Amino acid sequence: MQLACLDLEGVLIPEIWIEFSKRTGIPELARTTRDEPDYDRLMRGRLDLLRRHRLGLPDIQEVIAGMGPLPGAAQFLDWLRERFQVIILSDTFYEFAMPLMRSLGYPALFCHRLEVAADGFVRGYVLRQAEQKRESVKAFKALNFKVIAAGDSYNDTAMLAEAHAGILFRPPQNVIDEFPQYPVTRSYEEMAAAFEAASARI
Ligand SMILES: [Mg+2]
Repeated sequence: MQLACLDLEGVLIPEIWIEFSKRTGIPELARTTRDEPDYDRLMRGRLDLLRRHRLGLPDIQEVIAGMGPLPGAAQFLDWLRERFQVIILSDTFYEFAMPLMRSLGYPALFCHRLEVAADGFVRGYVLRQAEQKRESVKAFKALNFKVIAAGDSYNDTAMLAEAHAGILFRPPQNVIDEFPQYPVTRSYEEMAAAFEAASARI
């Protein structure tokens, strides 16, 4: 049995923090691990900004619900689910992703979670485990699944390397240059073709 592991942000839905920053007009929220490599510092800075702008989880979820998935994402996911068992492996948080999951038919999603105070303010976050994308693929292989993984950015490359086959979707140039072993796809049609090719090969 073959299993498809998909990254979420940049593959099926927009980058949540970047889109959220645009929609709320708070440019500092668009900072990513490229600007601040220390993830914990980055997250604490983001949570600080949310507090300062008096944005609690319900406000955040309302903005996120308005984003919608990327055009064509739901159809691609349906196509994929007819052919593979599909698990979405993401470094986002359930509380952020769930408003968008309805439009994707509530696929299986493994990600992290937030700590939310009674007044709705986000107090902190809890990672499922370090390197959960790679560790999940490892665990699926231990369950005798053949794994094909697809993602768009640097934080997916450990998952792609662990899988039997890896696919890049609309990656930035530095990832293409550093990981020439993975096919680069730019549309859902191309990604579907790459899944079929990988499936025949592994
Ligand atoms: Mg991504």
